[in-house]
Amino acid sequence: MMKAVTKYAKKRVREVNKAVDFYTTTNATLLDDEKIAFIKEHDISTTVSFDGPREIQDAQRSFANGKGSYDVTVPKLKKLLEKCPGTLAHAVITGHTDPRLVQNALLEIGFMEVGVAPVSGSLSGNNLMETKPDRDLGGLLKLMEQEAETWIKHTKNKDSQFLKRFMLTSQLHHGLLSFAHNVKKRYPCGAGLRMVGVACTGDVYLCHRFVGMDAYKPGSVFDSDLDREKYHQSPLTFVEECRKCSARYSCGGGCKHDNLGSCGSVFKPSEDMCCLRRRQVELSAYVVCLLKLKYVPDPDRVRIFLK
Ligand code: SF4
Repeated sequence: MMKAVTKYAKKRVREVNKAVDFYTTTNATLLDDEKIAFIKEHDISTTVSFDGPREIQDAQRSFANGKGSYDVTVPKLKKLLEKCPGTLAHAVITGHTDPRLVQNALLEIGFMEVGVAPVSGSLSGNNLMETKPDRDLGGLLKLMEQEAETWIKHTKNKDSQFLKRFMLTSQLHHGLLSFAHNVKKRYPCGAGLRMVGVACTGDVYLCHRFVGMDAYKPGSVFDSDLDREKYHQSPLTFVEECRKCSARYSCGGGCKHDNLGSCGSVFKPSEDMCCLRRRQVELSAYVVCLLKLKYVPDPDRVRIFLK
């Protein structure tokens, strides 16, 4: 299917004089030389879902027969990274797992860019809201606090080589850039706006995570328009928690699917995630203010150091 879609999309963009980019997310268990060559040939930006050290990966991502996927997947990842070194890793943190342990394991495999995120409420249990997510955000909070000090120390030392690598794994990187460039987010992401999820039936959902959930289906590719008016208004204007939140312009209102899974409504943010986002903003502000006041006289200089 990916081959057919890629071929068709490339043909169509030529016909209508537009451009197209391809992205995919994979658990990499079925990768082989042919698929890696295809990814490389079509310049497909790839994210691999992989949760870090063997014991965590095997516990969180096992095959249907119960066997862990670490040993099968790692050699394939190494081949992929050899051909496509810019491949991203995305790890899910559950329970009390130390995020640094996960980051280090992924860097050791050969990834340069690593993102870690707490397990989403929408992923726990078979039904949304049935089980609360098993997530303890203490480890991520601690990691961000350490990162703030690392940013300050290495920016003061003008260690650009270190910072170039560090920004690819840092939880504060986007927050710092937003502060340095005064960027304000009014939506958490493009779900239902400039991004949708399309099922093989042609039904259109808010995003790929909602596929199959009829309450979040604004229409179909066969309709002349989509019914998505209610998603056009920024959550920052009508969600009570967000209207007065100090992190609102950095967050934009929280992932709709996580909100639904944790609190039962796409417009009801979960407290623990809000706590994490507020700390992220506080720490980013702390770093940028300190550097601006004491070491970096203008925002352009910050940009140079962060590049
Ligand atoms: S952190 Fe929570 S309350 Fe604040 S804007 Fe984001 S979702 Fe809304």
